[in-house]
Amino acid sequence: MAERGLLIVFSGPSGVGKGTVLKQFMQTQQNCTISISATTRAPRPGEQEGVDYYFIDKERFERMIAGDAMLEYACYGGNYYGTPRGPVEEQLRQGINVILEIELVGALKIKEQYPKGVFVFVMPPSIQELRRRLTSRGTEKEEAIALRMEAARTEMEQAMLYDYIIVNEDVEDCCRKFEAIVVAEGCAVRHRKEFIREVSQNA
Ligand code: 5GP
Repeated sequence: MAERGLLIVFSGPSGVGKGTVLKQFMQTQQNCTISISATTRAPRPGEQEGVDYYFIDKERFERMIAGDAMLEYACYGGNYYGTPRGPVEEQLRQGINVILEIELVGALKIKEQYPKGVFVFVMPPSIQELRRRLTSRGTEKEEAIALRMEAARTEMEQAMLYDYIIVNEDVEDCCRKFEAIVVAEGCAVRHRKEFIREVSQNA
Protein backbone atom coordinates (compact mmCIF):
# COMPACT_ATOMS: atom_id res chain seq x y z
CA MET A 1 0.00 0.00 0.00
CA ALA A 2 1.37 3.42 -0.97
CA GLU A 3 2.47 5.68 1.86
CA ARG A 4 0.60 8.97 2.04
CA GLY A 5 2.55 12.02 0.98
CA LEU A 6 3.85 14.59 3.46
CA LEU A 7 1.77 17.68 4.04
CA ILE A 8 4.31 20.49 4.35
CA VAL A 9 3.30 23.93 5.55
CA PHE A 10 5.69 26.65 4.41
CA SER A 11 5.10 30.00 6.10
CA GLY A 12 6.95 33.22 6.69
CA PRO A 13 6.22 36.92 6.55
CA SER A 14 5.26 38.50 3.27
CA GLY A 15 8.40 39.60 1.40
CA VAL A 16 10.73 37.05 3.03
CA GLY A 17 11.22 35.27 -0.29
CA LYS A 18 9.12 32.12 0.14
CA GLY A 19 8.05 32.17 -3.50
CA THR A 20 11.62 32.42 -4.80
CA VAL A 21 12.81 29.62 -2.54
CA LEU A 22 9.94 27.32 -3.51
CA LYS A 23 10.39 28.01 -7.21
CA GLN A 24 14.03 26.97 -7.01
CA PHE A 25 13.27 24.03 -4.71
CA MET A 26 10.69 22.64 -7.15
CA GLN A 27 13.23 22.49 -9.97
CA THR A 28 14.85 19.45 -8.38
CA GLN A 29 11.75 17.71 -7.00
CA GLN A 30 9.81 14.91 -8.64
CA ASN A 31 7.45 13.99 -5.84
CA CYS A 32 6.39 17.39 -4.53
CA THR A 33 3.68 19.76 -5.59
CA ILE A 34 2.64 23.21 -4.41
CA SER A 35 -1.02 23.66 -3.67
CA ILE A 36 -2.62 26.52 -5.62
CA SER A 37 -4.59 28.73 -3.27
CA ALA A 38 -7.72 30.73 -3.96
CA THR A 39 -7.73 34.41 -3.08
CA THR A 40 -9.98 37.44 -3.36
CA ARG A 41 -7.03 39.79 -3.81
CA ALA A 42 -6.41 41.25 -7.27
CA PRO A 43 -3.68 39.66 -9.39
CA ARG A 44 -0.31 41.43 -9.37
CA PRO A 45 1.29 42.17 -12.73
CA GLY A 46 2.55 38.90 -14.19
CA GLU A 47 0.47 36.64 -11.95
CA GLN A 48 -1.56 34.02 -13.78
CA GLU A 49 -4.93 32.52 -13.00
CA GLY A 50 -4.61 28.87 -11.97
CA VAL A 51 -0.82 29.13 -11.72
CA ASP A 52 -0.14 31.64 -8.95
CA TYR A 53 -3.65 31.61 -7.49
CA TYR A 54 -7.27 31.05 -8.38
CA PHE A 55 -8.48 34.65 -8.33
CA ILE A 56 -12.11 34.51 -7.26
CA ASP A 57 -14.63 36.97 -5.83
CA LYS A 58 -15.77 37.17 -2.22
CA GLU A 59 -19.17 35.55 -2.89
CA ARG A 60 -17.59 32.51 -4.53
CA PHE A 61 -15.00 32.25 -1.76
CA GLU A 62 -17.73 32.32 0.89
CA ARG A 63 -19.70 29.67 -1.00
CA MET A 64 -16.60 27.45 -0.95
CA ILE A 65 -16.24 27.95 2.81
CA ALA A 66 -19.91 27.11 3.32
CA GLY A 67 -19.57 23.99 1.17
CA ASP A 68 -16.53 22.79 3.19
CA ALA A 69 -14.43 23.05 0.04
CA MET A 70 -11.60 24.87 1.85
CA LEU A 71 -9.10 22.86 3.87
CA GLU A 72 -8.26 26.12 5.66
CA TYR A 73 -8.64 29.79 4.97
CA ALA A 74 -7.73 33.13 6.53
CA CYS A 75 -8.23 36.83 6.07
CA TYR A 76 -4.99 38.61 5.35
CA GLY A 77 -4.51 42.29 4.48
CA GLY A 78 -8.26 42.63 3.91
CA ASN A 79 -8.54 39.65 1.53
CA TYR A 80 -9.46 36.00 1.83
CA TYR A 81 -6.88 33.32 1.09
CA GLY A 82 -7.66 29.61 1.22
CA THR A 83 -6.53 26.13 0.25
CA PRO A 84 -9.00 24.20 -1.93
CA ARG A 85 -9.45 20.85 -0.18
CA GLY A 86 -9.98 18.40 -3.09
CA PRO A 87 -6.61 18.51 -4.88
CA VAL A 88 -4.60 18.39 -1.62
CA GLU A 89 -6.40 15.32 -0.28
CA GLU A 90 -6.13 13.55 -3.63
CA GLN A 91 -2.40 14.22 -4.03
CA LEU A 92 -1.64 13.11 -0.47
CA ARG A 93 -3.57 9.89 -1.16
CA GLN A 94 -1.37 9.33 -4.21
CA GLY A 95 1.73 9.61 -2.04
CA ILE A 96 2.75 13.04 -3.37
CA ASN A 97 4.23 15.58 -0.94
CA VAL A 98 2.06 18.68 -0.92
CA ILE A 99 3.43 22.09 0.07
CA LEU A 100 1.05 24.75 1.36
CA GLU A 101 2.53 28.24 1.21
CA ILE A 102 0.18 29.84 3.73
CA GLU A 103 0.17 32.30 6.60
CA LEU A 104 0.01 31.60 10.33
CA VAL A 105 -3.75 31.44 10.97
CA GLY A 106 -4.22 28.90 8.19
CA ALA A 107 -1.14 26.98 9.35
CA LEU A 108 -2.64 26.59 12.81
CA LYS A 109 -5.88 25.27 11.31
CA ILE A 110 -3.86 22.71 9.35
CA LYS A 111 -2.03 21.71 12.52
CA GLU A 112 -5.35 20.82 14.16
CA GLN A 113 -6.40 18.65 11.22
CA TYR A 114 -2.99 17.20 10.30
CA PRO A 115 -0.89 16.89 13.45
CA LYS A 116 1.62 14.87 11.39
CA GLY A 117 2.15 17.78 9.01
CA VAL A 118 5.62 19.30 8.70
CA PHE A 119 5.66 22.98 9.67
CA VAL A 120 8.46 25.15 8.28
CA PHE A 121 8.81 28.88 8.93
CA VAL A 122 11.07 31.17 6.89
CA MET A 123 12.54 34.11 8.81
CA PRO A 124 14.28 37.20 7.41
CA PRO A 125 17.76 37.93 8.82
CA SER A 126 16.26 41.07 10.44
CA ILE A 127 13.08 43.15 10.47
CA GLN A 128 14.93 45.97 8.64
CA GLU A 129 15.86 43.58 5.86
CA LEU A 130 12.25 42.43 5.58
CA ARG A 131 11.02 46.01 5.18
CA ARG A 132 13.68 46.62 2.55
CA ARG A 133 12.63 43.54 0.57
CA LEU A 134 8.92 44.40 0.79
CA THR A 135 9.51 47.98 -0.31
CA SER A 136 11.89 47.15 -3.13
CA ARG A 137 9.45 44.61 -4.59
CA GLY A 138 7.37 47.66 -5.53
CA THR A 139 4.10 45.71 -5.76
CA GLU A 140 2.39 47.15 -2.66
CA LYS A 141 1.38 50.67 -1.68
CA GLU A 142 2.75 52.15 1.57
CA GLU A 143 -0.50 51.32 3.40
CA ALA A 144 -0.39 47.67 2.31
CA ILE A 145 3.29 47.49 3.32
CA ALA A 146 2.42 48.79 6.79
CA LEU A 147 -0.28 46.09 7.12
CA ARG A 148 2.15 43.41 5.99
CA MET A 149 4.87 44.61 8.41
CA GLU A 150 2.35 44.46 11.24
CA ALA A 151 1.28 40.94 10.23
CA ALA A 152 4.97 39.98 9.94
CA ARG A 153 5.64 40.91 13.55
CA THR A 154 2.69 38.84 14.78
CA GLU A 155 3.65 35.90 12.58
CA MET A 156 7.31 35.89 13.62
CA GLU A 157 6.36 35.90 17.29
CA GLN A 158 4.52 32.63 16.60
CA ALA A 159 7.38 30.93 14.76
CA MET A 160 7.89 28.75 17.87
CA LEU A 161 4.77 26.82 16.93
CA TYR A 162 6.50 25.46 13.85
CA ASP A 163 8.88 22.47 13.65
CA TYR A 164 11.67 24.20 11.73
CA ILE A 165 12.86 27.70 10.96
CA ILE A 166 15.05 28.62 8.02
CA VAL A 167 16.67 32.06 7.82
CA ASN A 168 16.55 33.31 4.26
CA GLU A 169 19.81 35.13 3.85
CA ASP A 170 20.69 33.34 0.68
CA VAL A 171 18.21 31.53 -1.58
CA GLU A 172 20.53 28.59 -2.40
CA ASP A 173 21.28 27.97 1.25
CA CYS A 174 17.62 28.25 2.20
CA CYS A 175 16.69 25.80 -0.54
CA ARG A 176 19.32 23.27 0.58
CA LYS A 177 18.02 23.43 4.13
CA PHE A 178 14.43 22.97 3.01
CA GLU A 179 15.47 19.99 0.88
CA ALA A 180 17.26 18.47 3.88
CA ILE A 181 14.10 18.84 5.98
CA VAL A 182 11.91 17.19 3.35
CA VAL A 183 14.35 14.29 2.91
CA ALA A 184 14.69 13.76 6.66
CA GLU A 185 10.94 13.94 7.25
CA GLY A 186 10.40 11.43 4.45
CA CYS A 187 12.58 8.99 6.43
CA ALA A 188 11.01 9.75 9.82
CA VAL A 189 9.49 6.68 11.46
CA ARG A 190 6.36 8.62 12.38
CA HIS A 191 5.63 8.95 8.64
CA ARG A 192 6.72 5.43 7.63
CA LYS A 193 4.78 3.23 10.04
CA GLU A 194 2.55 1.78 7.33
CA PHE A 195 5.58 0.88 5.24
CA ILE A 196 7.33 -0.78 8.18
CA ARG A 197 4.21 -2.78 8.99
CA GLU A 198 3.67 -3.83 5.40
CA VAL A 199 7.24 -5.04 4.81
CA SER A 200 7.61 -6.77 8.16
CA GLN A 201 4.27 -8.55 7.88
CA ASN A 202 5.13 -9.91 4.45
CA ALA A 203 8.55 -11.13 5.58
P1 5GP B 1 0.38 37.39 -1.13
O1 5GP B 1 -0.74 38.39 -1.23
O2 5GP B 1 1.71 38.07 -0.85
O3 5GP B 1 0.45 36.47 -2.33
O4 5GP B 1 0.08 36.46 0.13
C1 5GP B 1 -0.15 37.02 1.38
C2 5GP B 1 -0.04 35.95 2.45
O5 5GP B 1 -1.09 35.00 2.27
C3 5GP B 1 1.27 35.16 2.40
O6 5GP B 1 1.77 35.05 3.73
C4 5GP B 1 0.85 33.81 1.88
O7 5GP B 1 1.68 32.77 2.38
C5 5GP B 1 -0.56 33.70 2.43
N1 5GP B 1 -1.38 32.74 1.68
C6 5GP B 1 -1.34 32.43 0.37
N2 5GP B 1 -2.23 31.48 0.09
C7 5GP B 1 -2.85 31.15 1.26
C8 5GP B 1 -3.86 30.20 1.63
O8 5GP B 1 -4.37 29.43 0.84
N3 5GP B 1 -4.23 30.17 2.94
C9 5GP B 1 -3.68 30.98 3.88
N4 5GP B 1 -4.10 30.85 5.13
N5 5GP B 1 -2.72 31.87 3.57
C10 5GP B 1 -2.31 31.96 2.27
